[in-house]
Amino acid sequence: MNPFASNQSKVEPLVAPCLGRVENIFIKRDDLIHPIVSGNKWRKLKQHIAFAETQGKKHLVTFGGAYSNHMVAVACAAAVLGFKSSCFIRGDELQYQSNHYLRLAKLYGMDLIPTERTAYREGKKQLYETHFAHKPEAFFIDEGGAGELGIPGVSEIIAELDFIPNHIIHASATGTTAAGLLTGMEQNPEFKNTILHAVAVLKNTPEQQSKLEGLKLPVAFNVVTGFEFGGYAKSSKELMDFVSEFISQTGIIIDPVYTGKALFALKIKIETGEIKEHESVLFLHTGGTLGIFSDAFLSAVGN
Ligand SMILES: *Cc1c(COP(=O)(O)O)cnc(C)c1O
Repeated sequence: MNPFASNQSKVEPLVAPCLGRVENIFIKRDDLIHPIVSGNKWRKLKQHIAFAETQGKKHLVTFGGAYSNHMVAVACAAAVLGFKSSCFIRGDELQYQSNHYLRLAKLYGMDLIPTERTAYREGKKQLYETHFAHKPEAFFIDEGGAGELGIPGVSEIIAELDFIPNHIIHASATGTTAAGLLTGMEQNPEFKNTILHAVAVLKNTPEQQSKLEGLKLPVAFNVVTGFEFGGYAKSSKELMDFVSEFISQTGIIIDPVYTGKALFALKIKIETGEIKEHESVLFLHTGGTLGIFSDAFLSAVGN
């Protein structure tokens, strides 16, 4: 029924000299779950969609910024699974021609609803109520696939692993992916000595920290701060150069918004000895390939 449900992603050795070490680093390729949908967004959506199906819902309604991997993921999943889809887009000046994320969402058949920023900020539930409360087939999915239903799909990543790394590291924004990984670690007690490093890609470390502490799980984690590069989707020449170098050394596409920042943090943790030479590391590639096609990145490559 669900064409993505059985997609376990593979783990492979990660040989990238730019990380400062090539031994004992592995990468879980959730970027290969789907060429367009970020693996992480798919995992978070999985239970939302399963729940929508049990409720007989036929129309997925969600929210996102102009460069939202989640929006594209919902649009694609809806097209594959036979749902209608709509998305409130932050910014009433936007249209589908504005960028490649919006264009893809539109191609997948999503109805885009450009929304004035204040209204967007003031309440998604309110927007949903106004436009969809009277439509029994509609199903609310929060921005980014956040919420309780986002967690179980991600927790499956841990059960798929056939080795026990000392460290797991990944890009973190809302903390939902991190919450799923910690839940998986708690459910699989062999991971009791593994440490999760959730690298904050925007300046919201306290919120992420309290969200994860709130889970009250007996597993070790830290929200890694200092690798925001100025904030969400902000960047620097150093980061762009690192992303280019990594891609040229591995053939694996990463982006400057999410995975590039998390891998940069890994490089520094290796450099400073916080991650020790004999310790094994699993980097979770969360996807986000579309981020590589940003104008900022395209103009930086080759300079
Ligand atoms: C959304 C996203 C993340 C962050 O996931 P959260 O669950 O919000 O922390 C990480 N990587 C990629 C590629 C993403 O699209």
